[in-house]
Amino acid sequence: MQEESTSSLEAAWRDVTARAEAAAGGRPLHVLAVGKTRPAAELRAMAALGQRAFGENYVQEARAKQLALADLGLEWHLIGPLQSNKCGDVARRFDWLQTLDRAKLVPLLAQARPPTGPTLEVLVQVNIDDEASKSGCRPRDIGSLADTVAATTRLRLRGLMAIPAPHPDRALRQRAFARMRHAFDALRLDHPGIDTLSMGMSDDFELAIREGATMVRIGSQLFGPRHAR
Ligand SMILES: *Cc1c(COP(=O)(O)O)cnc(C)c1O
Repeated sequence: MQEESTSSLEAAWRDVTARAEAAAGGRPLHVLAVGKTRPAAELRAMAALGQRAFGENYVQEARAKQLALADLGLEWHLIGPLQSNKCGDVARRFDWLQTLDRAKLVPLLAQARPPTGPTLEVLVQVNIDDEASKSGCRPRDIGSLADTVAATTRLRLRGLMAIPAPHPDRALRQRAFARMRHAFDALRLDHPGIDTLSMGMSDDFELAIREGATMVRIGSQLFGPRHAR
């Protein structure tokens, strides 16, 4: 990796983390670096700056990077849609699953999660804008899906995740984030141990943080525009 690209990664990482922390105003806030389409060498350079948690959308693509970066002990989050035939791979190779959206995947994940070692940390993905094309459970199904995760050994319920529609009207995005915050607060009454509300991306992470996000998922602001897959 050339020095010049390393220093532009560093500048981007410092800028994003500083803006995120400022928006959080002292509340706990986690920045997930989204590495999809980016080579392992760039993730390694970002890890050297202090970034520990990385998000990947595709199990296969993640596998190559997990192997290449195994010496670093990074934390891996699946943030892409999960098919049932990938549950075993995900349960064995990821630390977090942010996109659980249906109960039938839960036993498949639990079965494959190694009995020794840490639990799989799980976020229930919510289709907050009710878009037919997007994954995520319906808001009214959050409670039952969360109960199912919480009752399952080898999995640990940590909170909620959403990808609101990238509406050009910021006020509509803000409302979607606020609805997620309400859903999160409501869920916490039944599950006081949850601590993670994952929402906000490069375009709108400061807005999401102000509306209560505890984790933002940042790709292009950190790594630059995505390469074609
Ligand atoms: C790609 C992706 C991101 C990051 O998107 P950017 O706009 O590049 O920050 C965040 N979350 C999910 C689920 C993604 O697929």
